[in-house]
Amino acid sequence: MALVLFSGGQDSTTCLAMAKHKHSNVEAICIDYGQRHRIELDQAKIIADRSDTPLTIIKTDLLAQLTNSALTQADQKIEIKQNALPSTFVPGRNQLFLTLAAIVAYQKKISVIYTGVCQTDYSGYPDCRDDFIQSLTQTINLAMNTTITIETPLMWLTKAETIRVMQTLGRLDWYADTHTCYEGVRPACGQCPACKLRLKGFNDAGVVDPLTYVT
Ligand code: ZN
Repeated sequence: MALVLFSGGQDSTTCLAMAKHKHSNVEAICIDYGQRHRIELDQAKIIADRSDTPLTIIKTDLLAQLTNSALTQADQKIEIKQNALPSTFVPGRNQLFLTLAAIVAYQKKISVIYTGVCQTDYSGYPDCRDDFIQSLTQTINLAMNTTITIETPLMWLTKAETIRVMQTLGRLDWYADTHTCYEGVRPACGQCPACKLRLKGFNDAGVVDPLTYVT
């Protein structure tokens, strides 16, 4: 049995497909942390439905209360600064989310957690790195006296390789419901840094993105 930390984005949707390929029983949790794009949560529900995955939504406004990030504050511009963390960085986010996932896993007697963090296309987030995941796994197991493992199947893959994994699993169509765009719109804008990175991945993989874009 596995639990997928799910956001409705491309990477966690790939993790969901990979987990379902490997485990007969897969559930997902999605964290409602006051993200400025509510559309992410709607899309997460749609993908969970279409993939027949039980989805638990954990509501916490802690991050929005405590942090000042463009991902939670609608008045902040999303920008990538040179030699600095992007304005979308939310300190402690993955640590908090994986800890919440571990609490849910503990209650449900689930021993494997999947997360779509990736060090290859590393956008400067320190909590996407492999050494952080190793360290947190140890901390969670010490804290809960458990043997939970955190699977990060995308850690060393490029975006193009991730897309090819999805193609091999025959689940490319799930990408049509994923949300990536920083503008928070459907059809996606195709112009923001997130859309551009996504489109580059599909281009590199030689695969057509099933998502609809503004033309
Ligand atoms: Zn966009």
